[in-house]
Amino acid sequence: MKDEFAVVKCTNRECGRYTYAKTDQKTRKCPYCNRQIKVINSTVRNVDTSTIARAYVSNLNQKLGEKTSPAWMKTKKRK
Ligand SMILES: [Zn+2]
Repeated sequence: MKDEFAVVKCTNRECGRYTYAKTDQKTRKCPYCNRQIKVINSTVRNVDTSTIARAYVSNLNQKLGEKTSPAWMKTKKRK
């Protein structure tokens, strides 16, 4: 199967981080700021597997991480 996962960018301007969702999912909650992201409107690219999606997300967030750290990093670690 192709394009099963969508890499999405958080629509909260103060957050703007990346996460991923199944393409058949309508919304995804941002793990950084808990905003509901509309998957269709926020997709930056579609990928085949969750492994690839995760690699993209961590790569993109690492670039952002040079500027800011996610709020949860200071307080608590969650899966
Ligand atoms: Zn967010």
